[in-house]
Amino acid sequence: MEAPSAAGRVAPSRAERKAQEREQILEREKRRKTLKLVSRILKKSELERTAEDADELRRHEDTVRELCTRQLRRSILKRKQEEVFDDAEELRRKVSQLAVAVRGARHLVVYTGAGISTAASIPDYRGPNGLWTQLQKGRSVSTSDLSAAEPTLTHMSIRMLHKEKLVQHVVSQNCDGLHLRSGLPRHALSELHGNMFMEVCTSCSPAREYVRLFDVTERTALRRHGTSRRCPQCGGELRDTIVHFGERGTLEQPLNWKGAMEAAAKADVILCLGSSLKVLKKYTCLWCMNKSTDKRPKLYIVNLQWTPKDDLATLKIHAKCDDAMRLLMQELDITIPPYVKAEDPIFRLATPLRPGEENSHTRKVISPSAGQEDCVSAPKGTALSAAVQGGWFGRGYSKGRRKRKTST
Ligand SMILES: [Zn+2]
Repeated sequence: MEAPSAAGRVAPSRAERKAQEREQILEREKRRKTLKLVSRILKKSELERTAEDADELRRHEDTVRELCTRQLRRSILKRKQEEVFDDAEELRRKVSQLAVAVRGARHLVVYTGAGISTAASIPDYRGPNGLWTQLQKGRSVSTSDLSAAEPTLTHMSIRMLHKEKLVQHVVSQNCDGLHLRSGLPRHALSELHGNMFMEVCTSCSPAREYVRLFDVTERTALRRHGTSRRCPQCGGELRDTIVHFGERGTLEQPLNWKGAMEAAAKADVILCLGSSLKVLKKYTCLWCMNKSTDKRPKLYIVNLQWTPKDDLATLKIHAKCDDAMRLLMQELDITIPPYVKAEDPIFRLATPLRPGEENSHTRKVISPSAGQEDCVSAPKGTALSAAVQGGWFGRGYSKGRRKRKTST
């Protein structure tokens, strides 16, 4: 059993191994004590430190260096997660700078993330209380029915800027469908991660779309996209359009990658609103990184937290999107139209369910007049505040994360 080592020496005996182990344990214990000692001294102000303390620090230079590096890393991480607000005057000054850029742009593209929908009661992904942060901490997420959300001031402003030909294209990471519901035309929109109100038949060629008045994703998840409803044309099972983390979106619509890439190639100004850009930055074609620095579009970012593109931005505005957009529209002298539910294009676009499919979901159905909204078959109250599990985030999302974690 005890094979000789390459040098011809016999492997250590049991007693020797035990001694070695004990030595290692003592070594670890010593190191732990040093760390504790040094960190206690470092917590004192320099005036409080005794001559003895100073000696210890000199004696354990390596530990001092290690602890300082750790501390630095922690504070950088903390700073990146903090929400920062520009004061009123600074915000006004920055927004007027943005207004000049918007007026002067030849081809302005807007990139949007969850931060533009927070005012619509859709939770943010990566803010301190965001979904992503909660899921990452292993907490379950409870939220009200997301289809109750309506386009915000920011959605309506963007739609208006497009109408005034100041914005040419909108690329969104949001699945909440609110850009479409604000009245922004389809061709000017790329919903890179899908639209929760849309199901498609991929058996039909070209793929056939069905817009619904409810969240179609309640039974779907990562790599499981069937909604259980059928295509009235060919009878094939319909699927949702959501692109979960770890998936590659292949649907032409509503993702419209072609539109997004064409817009990015032509853009001279990119305005990022309410996105951490952590996912968007990975789509390199959206940033024209193949062009030389001086030919790349100018970047304007509105976000409360740090983003990985901050260093490249011409201007970073720390404000809530609605606050920044309200000021911007004032500055541009353009009236923001209110969202009028009765005129929501979704009612025009929606396909009614087939007979027998009325009970194929339990989500709230949106209705043009208030008070008529109804959960089709759910017992009272259950659909409203149930913990999010399936659907366009929730189960699919956390599964994807776990999978990615184990594979790296
Ligand atoms: Zn079909």
